[in-house]
Amino acid sequence: RIPFDVNRVRSDFPVFRERVNGKPLIWFDNAATTQKPKQVIDRITYFYEHENSNIHRAAHELAARATDAYEAAREKVRAFVNAGSVNEIVFVRGTTEAINLVAKTWGDQNLHAGDEIIVSHLEHHANIVPWKQLADRKGLVLRVIPVDDDGQILLGAYAGLLNPKTKLVSFTQVSNALGTVTPAKQIIEMAHAAGAKVLLDGAQSVSHLRTDVTALNCDWFVFSGHKVFGPTGIGALYGKEDILNATQPWQGGGNMIVDVTFEHIQYHNAPSRFEAGTGNIADAVGLGAALDYVNRLGIENIHQYEHFLLEYATGLMKNVPGLRLIGTAKEKASVLSFVLDGYKTEEVGAALNKEGIAVRSGHHCAQPILRRFGLETTVRPSLAFYNTCEEVDVLVGTLHRLSGQRR
Ligand code: PMP
Repeated sequence: RIPFDVNRVRSDFPVFRERVNGKPLIWFDNAATTQKPKQVIDRITYFYEHENSNIHRAAHELAARATDAYEAAREKVRAFVNAGSVNEIVFVRGTTEAINLVAKTWGDQNLHAGDEIIVSHLEHHANIVPWKQLADRKGLVLRVIPVDDDGQILLGAYAGLLNPKTKLVSFTQVSNALGTVTPAKQIIEMAHAAGAKVLLDGAQSVSHLRTDVTALNCDWFVFSGHKVFGPTGIGALYGKEDILNATQPWQGGGNMIVDVTFEHIQYHNAPSRFEAGTGNIADAVGLGAALDYVNRLGIENIHQYEHFLLEYATGLMKNVPGLRLIGTAKEKASVLSFVLDGYKTEEVGAALNKEGIAVRSGHHCAQPILRRFGLETTVRPSLAFYNTCEEVDVLVGTLHRLSGQRR
């Protein structure tokens, strides 16, 4: 049933030797960030020991090594998301920076008073705030696709929001607060039929589902390296090449120009035009190693195992008296948000921490969707391929004990 040896996989992750409060660490905070295999840590060390240089500028051996490593990482990202060209892959700090980049460049340049942007009720603040700021700046209308009581997008209501003024639809492929997998292909097709462009937030999907920007036909796709077993401070923006090249850059500086005089500046095409200054070279290389790692396990194998684990955990958690699961869509990935009768969510988080279990309790930077369910916070365990049924048993056992104490 399990398509790879989970214990062997776990041994790749040095952090799992940690103990917390005398207990083995159980990492169920994967939606916040993922742990890093030794292969990623070693690759970053190797870069600093053997390749470290700034890129592109200098004609010496280490500049060539660093440039090759950085551009090889870009190719790995291209292949991972199945983009047509490396020119469509811009390295950024993460999902947040990528969305802000699109809002502050394409959005500023192409949207005008009265134009409409659609987001979904599921969005992370990173996919709300930049659009709200843009809307306020330019007099745009921000519309919201509602969700049903299971936390799935209502396509009929979405169809009713689309109109000739709709210029952009920006939504998440997987909800970080509920785990809902949205019908991305359909949402994108409907947006395009209405003449709108589409940004897809892949922060929570890249580590769980196969990404295929060509099949999805989204105009931009954004994700963070740290959510897919790579380093923090690095992520990628995919954009269709013609759109990127028709968009003026935001930050100006070195690396992004063809020619500069005091009278005139000529920019490079994408991706360089959006990579002003010295980027996060080592961590881009580390991200490449993380994608290699995921490819070796196989994203389909990961998906299959995680699905099994999610079903296993869901079944057990449903039997905890007083536990209410938030987010019960048919298609879900990784996330098990819940509240427990008689407990504040931070009390549950603290009690789990005593057992060595790391979960997030809070609003998950997604206040609108939690309020849709009448809540300010939930407890949110979130799974990855290195988690096990035994770890789920420890979690559920602790929840049963807590539940028993206040009933
Ligand atoms: N979108 C979603 C769906 C997320 O889960 C997150 C991270 N929690 C973000 C955007 C923001 O990602 P980052 O903080 O890495 O920029």
